Amino acid sequence: MSEPPRKFDLVLRGGRVIDPARHVDRRLDVGIRDGKIAEVRAGIGTDEARTSIDVRDRLVIPGMIDTHAHVYQYVTGSFGMNPDLVGIRSGVTTVVDQGGAAPLTIQGFRKFIVEPAATRVFAFVSNYLVGGLVGHRYTELYGPRGINVRETIRAIEDNRDIVKGIKAHAEVGGYSRWGIETLKLAKEASRKTGVPVYVHLGRLWAEADGTRIDPDVITPEMIPLLDPGDILAHPFTKNIGAFVSRDGKVHPLVFEAIQRGVRIDIGRGGHMSFHAARLVLDAGIVPFTVGADIHGYTIRRPEDGSWDAGYFDERRARRREPGRSIGGAAVFSLVQVMNELLALGLGLRDVVAMVTSNAAVAAGLDGQLGSLAPGTVADVSVLARDVGRWSLEDSLGVTLGATERLRPDFALKAGVMHRADSPLLFESLTEVA
Ligand SMILES: [Zn+2]
Repeated sequence: MSEPPRKFDLVLRGGRVIDPARHVDRRLDVGIRDGKIAEVRAGIGTDEARTSIDVRDRLVIPGMIDTHAHVYQYVTGSFGMNPDLVGIRSGVTTVVDQGGAAPLTIQGFRKFIVEPAATRVFAFVSNYLVGGLVGHRYTELYGPRGINVRETIRAIEDNRDIVKGIKAHAEVGGYSRWGIETLKLAKEASRKTGVPVYVHLGRLWAEADGTRIDPDVITPEMIPLLDPGDILAHPFTKNIGAFVSRDGKVHPLVFEAIQRGVRIDIGRGGHMSFHAARLVLDAGIVPFTVGADIHGYTIRRPEDGSWDAGYFDERRARRREPGRSIGGAAVFSLVQVMNELLALGLGLRDVVAMVTSNAAVAAGLDGQLGSLAPGTVADVSVLARDVGRWSLEDSLGVTLGATERLRPDFALKAGVMHRADSPLLFESLTEVA
């Protein structure tokens, strides 16, 4: 006698489901069939499911989206991470690369990154013809002569399925050479294609010889260029100027931009000052999205330079020798940034929205990703929530106490289970005895 067909391939049973797009926050079962969310309700019968996973002590949220990743591995030198290490193996089902892929290199990005990755990968294409080679080390490639608006438009129009915006910069080094011109060119392509620009604020390059730029002069030139949906990054940066001006206050034009619909992405990377974060949050600004901004320069890597020659080497990470490595943190993930935000006092539901529903909106993926709505693809992140005492550290070495932490357990991508086993998750936080 053959078994009757089951209604669901998989049921995640009894977890706390937080789905901000649908204003859901309660204990529910999530039923999955054919790689899609089939039903979200309480009390799905065990006889209705082929497989069940008990997640009663877990948070069940839409598949997390990292709005600021650097995953053009190999092409961007030691800067570029493996997409699955920062993505699905860190509990993150979708990553949006910021400016690694360029008008001249987008086909390689599709073929060698997007297609083989287990993680969903999208791109904000670089404003510059060459893109983010070795962390934008060669400044002269990034002036107006390194930009071709027609090529940028072509890269977007020919790759609408993966290109969702343009990565640009407004910072002192470029400004000292070319003023605000490069951002104007990015906006020209952005307006013609209807995709947003993502603007890196603060310092990236050193000023041209003999010049000294006050970052606060860039903001009044930059903000009026932005349209609703454009994204400003790095609000919590340790570098003074731009977001928090030299007098220690949020620049008044930032409030005006937010009023107009400009969005804020944290872009954590090396840009976390708990002090600046407090100033910004106390001024009433809640960032729209998180963006972990993990790249090869923000993680701890061996001092023999082996990663600089190529890429993130997982075997080395697993052999972590703390005394013999340089820079950054041994632990870095989107969830780790969420832990920082919780420790800074943001609410759990707000933080979950930032990496799910808000992130989908920011990257033009809403309706497609970022929610557990029945009928949509079954991308789900399952997180543990631990209680204890931990110490978090910002980019300046300042510490902040935490009494809870989130920890990725596993994720489903289109209904397929992936364990969160990235070496970047090891010892998720320093435990305080
Ligand atoms: Zn970045």
